[in-house]
Amino acid sequence: MVERVVVAGAGHAAGQTVASLKQKNFDGEIVLVGDEPWLPYQRPPLSKKYLAGELPAERLLFKPERFYDEPNFDLRLSTRVTSIDRSRRRIATEAGHVDYDRLILATGSRVRRLMIDGADLEGVHYLRNIADVDRIRTDLASARKIVIIGAGYIGLEVAAVARQLGLEVHVVEMAGRVMSRVVSPPVSAFFEREHAGRGVKLSLSTGIAGFTGRDGRVAGVKTSRDEVIAADLIVVGIGIQPNTELAAEAGLEIDNGIVVDDRCRTGDPRIYAVGDCSAHPSRIYGGRIRLESVHNAVEQAKTAAAGVCGEDVVYDQVPWFWSDQYDIKLQIAGLSDGYDRFVIRGDKRSRSFSCLYLAEGRLLAVDAVNAPRDFMQSKSLIAAGATPDPDRLADPDTALSDLG
Ligand code: FAD
Ligand code: NAP
Repeated sequence: MVERVVVAGAGHAAGQTVASLKQKNFDGEIVLVGDEPWLPYQRPPLSKKYLAGELPAERLLFKPERFYDEPNFDLRLSTRVTSIDRSRRRIATEAGHVDYDRLILATGSRVRRLMIDGADLEGVHYLRNIADVDRIRTDLASARKIVIIGAGYIGLEVAAVARQLGLEVHVVEMAGRVMSRVVSPPVSAFFEREHAGRGVKLSLSTGIAGFTGRDGRVAGVKTSRDEVIAADLIVVGIGIQPNTELAAEAGLEIDNGIVVDDRCRTGDPRIYAVGDCSAHPSRIYGGRIRLESVHNAVEQAKTAAAGVCGEDVVYDQVPWFWSDQYDIKLQIAGLSDGYDRFVIRGDKRSRSFSCLYLAEGRLLAVDAVNAPRDFMQSKSLIAAGATPDPDRLADPDTALSDLG
């Protein structure tokens, strides 16, 4: 019998794990150990409405405080899990040991940092948690010029908010186009034009040599092209790395993330791993993948909670993501890696179109720009392994739902 579940980490996946256990009337003890001072909260608004000052911190919470007011819940916030003793089924924290029957690793990821001259200057920011955004907002209030390093999700979402707040914005990206990891060249070009049209400066194919400072505070960015771009503050968004060290030190297999099966179980049947930190087998795409998204955190958490409760649930879903920039909603379903052709559906000038990716005729993924119906309908086609006719895909008068 499972008497105690310990959840390591108190982010999105952890919050969903606890919610799912409660929903399933799990009557054992649930111990949630997280190193941040907050109850589980949602990160997406951090680079959007919370950064813009349009959402109070309480609204970020995954569930309100009263939700955790249960006799079988034990919340240990501001507490780090330091090791796992698998033979004794016990974790060590900074505040003592906790025994477990099942352990759920939901340790998420941390930002990749730039190790360059001036990296420690005041005013150089990263964006992962509430405290980071509170510090950025304090600096934004008196700033005129922001330089953003990285044109991924964080970089472009912060650029959009900063422009809306009236700052001069300069984005520096090493790759030759924005969001190059996730979208195709025409979609990158669309977003580059949208940002440029609102006055954002973009330096592509440009690395960073260092930060310049004055009295301990950042004053500019020295680029690989030997330019110096003046800045009152910097936000760096150059990707993340999964928090896998606890699992690795406990002898669990790591392959880009903590290796789990399609039920989110690690090689130790008493330990699950969910969310950004875990790498799972993908039926749809083959091989093992690690996803960084809310959908993945939520669905893996539901799968693990079901497993703890003795249900046999398999995690097998089309991944999806979204990004909000100005009035543009980008929705991505599937993974486009390995595509051999793409088709554009709709007119980019209308600011509502989709880019659909195929490999050997099979639909892999869609980037839907202000096109929620294409997003929804493509998701079903991708799940079904559909091989739609590219010409009909490209024709906005043909319903995608007719192409399955
Ligand atoms: P996290 O939410 O990172 O939670 C992990 C928690 O574990 C953290 O609190 C961490 O501090 C803690 N922890 C780590 N190690 C330990 C330890 N040893 N002991 C105790 N605690 C520990 N995804 C989308 O799909 N759409 C979006 O629009 C979107 N926007 C985003 C915006 C921002 C600014 C960020 C940062 C992410 C965004 N994401 C978005 C990604 C999404 O938020 C993550 O994929 C999701 O939070 C992953 O959940 P998680 O629980 O795995 O990890
Ligand atoms: P990201 O999407 O991986 O983008 C990082 C970008 O920075 C990439 O374009 C990368 O280019 C570039 N880069 C890397 N090193 C660089 C360098 N030295 N100089 C300049 N550019 C560099 O990561 P992110 O935007 O930092 O986001 C962090 C995490 O938050 C991710 O998990 C992300 O999914 C999540 N997030 C998601 C959303 C969303 O889904 N809407 C919003 C915000 C954050 P290369 O690809 O060439 O390395």
